[in-house]
This record gives sequence, structure tokens and C-alpha cells, in this order.
Amino acid sequence: MKITAIRSHVLQYDLAEELGYSQQYYLKRTTHLVEVTTDEGVTGWGESFGGGDVAFANKAIVERVIQPMVLGMDPLAREVIWHKVYNLLRDHGQKGMPMQALSGVDIALWDIAGKLHGVPLYRLLGGAFRDRIPVYGYGMMLQRVPDLAERFAVESAAIKEAGYGAMKMKIGLGPRKDLELVEAVRNAIGGETGQMVDANHAYTAREAIPLGRELERLGVAWFEEPVAPEDRQGYRDLCSTLDMPIAGGEGEFTRWGFRDLIRERCVDVLQPEVCGLGGITEYLKVRALAEAHFLPIVNHVWGSAVAVAANMHLLAALPDLPGGAHPVQPMLEFDTTPNRFREELLTEPLRIGEQVRESGGTVALPGGPGLGVEPDPDFLRHFSVD
Ligand SMILES: [Mg+2]
Repeated sequence: MKITAIRSHVLQYDLAEELGYSQQYYLKRTTHLVEVTTDEGVTGWGESFGGGDVAFANKAIVERVIQPMVLGMDPLAREVIWHKVYNLLRDHGQKGMPMQALSGVDIALWDIAGKLHGVPLYRLLGGAFRDRIPVYGYGMMLQRVPDLAERFAVESAAIKEAGYGAMKMKIGLGPRKDLELVEAVRNAIGGETGQMVDANHAYTAREAIPLGRELERLGVAWFEEPVAPEDRQGYRDLCSTLDMPIAGGEGEFTRWGFRDLIRERCVDVLQPEVCGLGGITEYLKVRALAEAHFLPIVNHVWGSAVAVAANMHLLAALPDLPGGAHPVQPMLEFDTTPNRFREELLTEPLRIGEQVRESGGTVALPGGPGLGVEPDPDFLRHFSVD
């Protein structure tokens, strides 16, 4: 069996309303799918993290840099392919876009393996530790409007009403404004619903520590990316000064990047992004490192239905930590803001929102071999901006 082609599909459409986080605002929804075809007719799908114009650079890396390296190779030789690509790109980028591009290819290879064996990905990974996965709702993105606190209150109440037991909101507008937003949401959802905040590295540790004390007072469940990913000392200071959990890791790559983050105890909740850090092959190594240090994992999830499905398999196959009769279950991060690439991409949609509403906050494991997803060819053609 041989790889015959690797193709990137960059899809894009205009949002009805601008969305943002502490670093930028955007008006286009972009996603980057990777399709690996073989000489035996089995096709795999993956996704590369990197929105906006970054997707076009990643597409070039996938098709013009990685594809020639692996054409003709056995798609089941995932470790061999991963290490060949990494070794050839090491001098040109051990983090960032080369790893995002490789991630999409690697995920597609796992999809091929599952289809070839006729089993869902989570069974290839060693089996499911759970039948259902709790879901937390991600929403409340930043907008340049005067009534943001009122909007956050309405949106958070709607997320709670939709069945999510916990939710995450953006902050990063300065401590005073942040606390106004966090209080508005807390008042809207009450004390029982989990509330997390994500600053997308808007602060220095000196700014984030007093803000964190106020977030603790408001019962916030974790403070995500308070400082820049490179600021390891800042992360350590936050972890040692505050009682609340510090979350991070979505901006880290490969076992070598995570090795230092984990060993130095920079976060209390690790958020690996499988579509960016190096794919499933590398995720498993990062997972082992985290387990060796008893560090809980809550995957970072963003993007299309392909990325959501991949993460559902990973969370199904994530061992309990530390183990027991009543383990804390890992949560699936699920973006509740409008996204046609999540809702309309697949011939058979994942129906996450519907399942959460029907079950009171959980989702069943995906069926079908591999990732269990099939992108609709007409949809791909319509939204493709290649
Ligand atoms: Mg985040």
C-alpha cells in the first residue's frame, strides 16, 4: 500500500458578525483539511490548526514540502513518516507551521489505519475508557461593541440552557473590564455551572497574579493562557502563587516542547492541540509525558468537525488519572459560536449540540472506522478557496 497524493483543502466563508480574542478580531471563518489518498482506494482525512491566512502557508507546506517527502511510502508507517518529515524540517521550524502541517497529514494516516482495520480510531488507540464524554461549551468571544457584558450574560445563559455543565469565556481586555465580564457571566449562570476564562496570553505575570486572585474570588475554574507560552517563569509564578488551576499548552509543539512545560510544572491543566502539536502520533508521546507527571489533560479543540471527531476519539481513549472507582472524566471542548465547517461539512453530522441538549451535557463516542467522518464533496467544492 502506497500514498499516492496529499491534498490540502482550505475552506473559507464570511462571518455574519466579527469575532475576536485578546490578540485580534476576524471576519472570516477558515479551516484547513488534509486529504491523503492511497493506491488501494482508502482515503484519510486530517486537519491542520492555523486559521486565517496561516492556512494558506500551511497548505503550501503540506503540498509542496511534505508531500514530496512521503509519496510512495506505506501509510501505515506513521512513525517512520513522522520522523522522516520532522528530521527534514528540524532546521526550518521545530514549532509552529511545519508542525501544524505535519499534524494534518498524521491525523489522516490514522484515519486510513482505522478504515483499513475496520475499527474506530479509539479502538486503535487501545480502547474506550468511557461510553460518553462530558462537553464544555466554549463561547463568549470578544466583540467591539459597547454592550459586551450584556451580550456575554445572554450568551452564557443560553449555553447553560443548552445543557452544558461548564463553559469558557474570553478575557484579555484589561483586568478591570475582564472582571466586569466575568461577574456578568457568573451572575447570569449562577454558582453551580463551571466557568473558565481564557486570556490568550494577554498579560504579564505581574498583571495576571492580582487578576487571578479576583478570578478565584468569583469561583473561576481555570485561568487559561494568562501569559505568553514562552514565559515559563511567569507560568511557574502563577502556579505557585494562586490556588486556582492554570491551564495552557495549546501553543506548544512536540514531545520536546511539552517536556519542559510539563517537567517545570508550568500548568495545572495541560491543553494539547492535536491538529498543531504534531498529530496523533506525537500527541500520544505528550500524553505519556503528562501521565508520568500526573498532569490532567483537557484537549484544546478548535476547528471543523474533523478536528472535533479526532478529539472525541482521543478523549475516549484517555486513561483515568490517577484512576479509581469514581474518576474525574476528561471534557470535550466544544465551540458554540456559529461555524458551518462544524455543522454542515460532514455527510453525517456529529450532532454534538443536539446530544448535549438531549443528554444534559455529554456526547456519545463516534461510530464508523477511522475518525468516522466523511466530508461532503459538494460542500468542499463550494467553500474551497484554494
Ligand atoms: Mg485557549
